[in-house]
Amino acid sequence: MSNEIKTQVVVLGGGPGGYSAAFRAADLGLEVVIVERYNVLGGVCLNVGCIPSKALLHLAKHIDDAKHLGDAGVAFTAPKIDLDKIRAHKEKVVSQLTNGLGQMSKMRKVKVVTGTGEFTGANELKVTGDEETVIKFDNAIIAAGSKPVELPFIPHEDERIWDSTDALEMPFIPKKMLLLGGGIIGLEMGCVYSALGSKLDVVEFMDQLIPAADKDLIKVFTKAMKSKFDNIMLETKVTNVEAKKDGIHVTFEGKNAPEKPVKYDAVLVAVGRTPNGDKLGADKAGINVTDKGFIEVDKQMRTNVDHIFAIGDIVGQPMLAHKAVHEGHVAAEVISGKKHFFDPKVIPSIAYTDPEVAWAGLTEKEAKEQDIAIETAVFPWSASGRAIASGATDGFTKLIFDKESHRILGGAIVGSHAGELLGEICLAIEMGADAEDIALTVHAHPTLHESIGLAAEVMEGSITDMP
Ligand code: FAD
Repeated sequence: MSNEIKTQVVVLGGGPGGYSAAFRAADLGLEVVIVERYNVLGGVCLNVGCIPSKALLHLAKHIDDAKHLGDAGVAFTAPKIDLDKIRAHKEKVVSQLTNGLGQMSKMRKVKVVTGTGEFTGANELKVTGDEETVIKFDNAIIAAGSKPVELPFIPHEDERIWDSTDALEMPFIPKKMLLLGGGIIGLEMGCVYSALGSKLDVVEFMDQLIPAADKDLIKVFTKAMKSKFDNIMLETKVTNVEAKKDGIHVTFEGKNAPEKPVKYDAVLVAVGRTPNGDKLGADKAGINVTDKGFIEVDKQMRTNVDHIFAIGDIVGQPMLAHKAVHEGHVAAEVISGKKHFFDPKVIPSIAYTDPEVAWAGLTEKEAKEQDIAIETAVFPWSASGRAIASGATDGFTKLIFDKESHRILGGAIVGSHAGELLGEICLAIEMGADAEDIALTVHAHPTLHESIGLAAEVMEGSITDMP
């Protein structure tokens, strides 16, 4: 016998997209049910993504910073690493947030059904968990997220071959580790393991780390990564991975490939994420799913079925929590009758590595591809008083302006706290600010965000003195 629930809105998936959509819909007076296969809300981001990785990166940054203070006259002894305590710390951070979500659902009377959901019709979803529940709904929001890509020639079942979730579990600290993939997720975990004492190599198929980011930023970033990674193999691919008793033997091919296979204690495979669109019974509800598992939506997050919406990683790139949250709000608002659209000018991207890499809006490469006439202005952190005082001179702030109107179109920063600094640039782009607006904004001294004002002054030709 299955339970039966009727609701105005069912949200499939309790990640940042799903819970944000559910809470907004409830706040707008709608009756809402969330279906989540795990016992806690928060999805990838809170449980095995954004939050635990940042908790570990925070520790890694302190370890690295402590190493560099010796030259300034403050020397620390080598850190004592207690993996059990680190794991407990990370779990505490995660549960603080996931518990909070549970309370917020209760406050809003959002019902959470635990189990795996599958559409059985255009207005019906079956949930299989400890018990079976059939949910009859007027509207649905699919927020089922994504999972790590697995490569067919890799023995993923071996416990020394990790995806990002395994790496966050920290089963052990490998003496020698390979990052397979030089994207943001892998590099963040690489910074953590490097600080904890692992020797690391990274292999990337493209000609730069973080391929989507501005080349100039990545030059500075790669230079910094050379102190963390023994071998950065660009334009190189992995052709074979063998799990043997004495280690994982990896064969490479390409421009910077070692001649012989290299033995590692662990390999982190971080080659991207793929949507969870294939197992939702979407066809039973008549929803179109692409060959790659993505669900196509319009600017109101509506699928081809009028009363079914989709948001977050499952609708496409960029697969980022803040995109999922905003899309979730739009879907809920549209269901409640508002004529809202998801139409941001920029969706910021940040690598929370050390140094951080952050960018938003148009890049130089995109401007060239789209034939947009631009002018760039750069402020090097070697000229920033705050950066010098903080030992953070390996960085710069770059702004991209429309050549004629001087309106800001994009911005990119590499350096300490770049992710925090990016907020000003995002707001400037959304508000349609021009170089003069930014240059005339009084930025506090000495700060790193001053570098944004100073880059705008460079653009205006009005820079007078250095901080
Ligand atoms: P998800 O968070 O994937 O949530 C989907 C939920 O749906 C899951 O809880 C899943 O269990 C549930 N689900 C799926 N199918 C079913 C089903 N059939 N029935 C019931 N439940 C189901 N993004 C950032 O913006 N900043 C970061 O710093 C960042 N760091 C990251 C670090 C790592 C290591 C990883 C892996 C990702 C990171 N991301 C980051 C990406 C971010 O986690 C995702 O973009 C975000 O979680 C997507 O949200 P979502 O709601 O679309 O899906």
